Amino acid sequence: MDQQGILLVSHGHFDGDLVDKITYDVKIEFQMPVQLEENHMDLTDYYDPKRRQYDGNQLLKMLDSLHENQYIRTMGLFRVDLFIPILTFIFGQAIFKGNSGIASFYRLRNEQYGMPKDDFLLYDRFRKVVIHELGHTFGLVHCFVPSCVMRSSTYVEDIDQKKHHFCSRCRSEMSLFINHSIKPH
Ligand SMILES: [Zn+2]
Ligand SMILES: [Zn+2]
Repeated sequence: MDQQGILLVSHGHFDGDLVDKITYDVKIEFQMPVQLEENHMDLTDYYDPKRRQYDGNQLLKMLDSLHENQYIRTMGLFRVDLFIPILTFIFGQAIFKGNSGIASFYRLRNEQYGMPKDDFLLYDRFRKVVIHELGHTFGLVHCFVPSCVMRSSTYVEDIDQKKHHFCSRCRSEMSLFINHSIKPH
């Protein structure tokens, strides 16, 4: 059976070709097929009215159970503000060595910080978060190489400092992991 590659699931409508461009970048970075799917499910159940944010843990769990075994990895792309109980907000999160991850562009938008809208910056930040979270699912931990996409980011400024590529060490660690764990049967 052929490998199905990575599935990106966009929740809600993203303007222009933002998610198409990210699909392409993910394909290049991971060197495997990447599919893009739209999902229009109602996210109300995941909304926390006290925090006025969406529960990242529950969304990740939902995504993981919905797409079990169909693809090597599934990544949910969201527009809404995500949180997990211990943090004020998250850009994204993933199950380490697991099948799924999530990311949102909500906190990546310049407007969120009183700065002028910048479509390229938004796209550039979003692809870094998506690739970073997918990196965790492929067994990568945080990296200290300043330009590496696996460097941890607390603020958007941190994301802007790094590239959307893996450093050579992360790249080879990931290939080892992929070769040992997810070769097609
Ligand atoms: Zn991380
Ligand atoms: Zn690295």
